[in-house]
Amino acid sequence: MHSYKAITLRNFTSIPQIALNLSEREKFEIMVVGHVLPFKTNRYIIENLIDWNQFRNDPIYVLNFPRKELLLDQHFEEMAQALTSGAGKAELRLVASKIRRELNPNPAGQMEKNVPQFEEEKLTGIQHKYRETMLFFPSQGQTCHAFCTFCFRWPQFTGIKDLKFGMKDIQRAIRYLSANPDVTDILFTGGDPLIMRTKILSQYLNALIAADLPGLQSIRLGSKALSYWPHRFVHDEDADELLHLMEKVVKSGINLALMAHINHPRELQTDIVQEAFRRVIGTGTVIRTQSPIMRNINDDSATWAELWQKQVQLGCIPYYMFIARDTGAQHYFAVTLARSWEIYKEAIQRVSGLARTARGPSMSADPGKVQVLGVTKVHGEKVFVLQFLQGRKAKWVHRPFFAKFDPAAIWLDDLSPAFDDKTFFFKNDHPLTQTNVPLEVNRSSSVDIDLSTIYH
Ligand SMILES: *Cc1c(COP(=O)(O)O)cnc(C)c1O
Ligand code: SF4
Repeated sequence: MHSYKAITLRNFTSIPQIALNLSEREKFEIMVVGHVLPFKTNRYIIENLIDWNQFRNDPIYVLNFPRKELLLDQHFEEMAQALTSGAGKAELRLVASKIRRELNPNPAGQMEKNVPQFEEEKLTGIQHKYRETMLFFPSQGQTCHAFCTFCFRWPQFTGIKDLKFGMKDIQRAIRYLSANPDVTDILFTGGDPLIMRTKILSQYLNALIAADLPGLQSIRLGSKALSYWPHRFVHDEDADELLHLMEKVVKSGINLALMAHINHPRELQTDIVQEAFRRVIGTGTVIRTQSPIMRNINDDSATWAELWQKQVQLGCIPYYMFIARDTGAQHYFAVTLARSWEIYKEAIQRVSGLARTARGPSMSADPGKVQVLGVTKVHGEKVFVLQFLQGRKAKWVHRPFFAKFDPAAIWLDDLSPAFDDKTFFFKNDHPLTQTNVPLEVNRSSSVDIDLSTIYH
């Protein structure tokens, strides 16, 4: 009953809800798109989170099930052609990787800047972009209990070897932390680090506790497991062991934060998810929540207000609202900057101060996390007011700046400076020092993909 089973291209047509409700055409479309973008869901989601009476527009269905619109027409046709002509596995793989490479798996083109060089080697399982927070990608945590259709991390899941991350060697990460005492936070991410069995996760966390690093204040686990597989915290064989491990981290004097990725209030409604929240919070772990704003999933203010209120009621702290980034199926999910700000503002206006801790809407762009503070007029010119929530240089943070208003803009690249400014202030900062990370550990050569927008 509670044992995890993935539903993928291999077995989805045998699931009753799918067999009964989807047309042959829709199943074929899932096959086509699922050969390019990874598809995975599970029984908990299908049985508890999707309203099958109106599944086509159901936010969780959209979140998990590939559909034709996720691909550009020419890409869809290419793969559909290959499938109907009976192409073999190898040929399908070729078509898939060709399309994937055209999907811009390296949006900011700048992983080079985030992966540190240390002890003569590139630390491929680490990203260190902002001075205080280091990302760590444990190699056993590079998949998830289900895949989000908008996720830009798909190159990690699709088996393109040279695009994969992961580092087993926590000891090297610990030496890196000792050498960089400015880092107060280590954020375990993936994939989903809570896909790891507790035994494996505990090796990483115990090593960090034992290292007793003077600078380390917080360990964060970025995860969507609360929503996609709440049994992880309640019924899984090693669920209790996981809770004990969390308790142990907290008791060691390190703050433990579960950075929970939750897109829609629907995900918070089941008894089991509420039980999971109670159990995690009972260990002394703080749950902070974040989500991107996505067309066809959660692009209205009432949904966000409800999402934040429900989260506060469950004892969480709303953290970030992200803007969809420029990769994958952005044409299907993108919400303009102007509209994102309206949704944020209207949602914030509806909730009490406890839920106004959510910051955004924010773009994780090359120079940093840029928040759209609003739209206004200055000396008759309509402008966006922006600020960095995080920057490659700490001194950029919380310094308001302006861009010309553009109702169609969806990303920082679409914007140009307002008034008579030639460039944005941060572009004038010397490029060689455009980083918080010490230069001697920051030089690296070829790296393939930027995973720096973290939804969790
Ligand atoms: C968002 C983000 C972090 C975490 O930043 P905080 O503001 O400390 O939550 C760290 N690294 C990267 C690359 C990020 O995008
Ligand atoms: S957003 Fe998170 S849970 Fe969703 S597919 Fe990406 S890494 Fe996995």
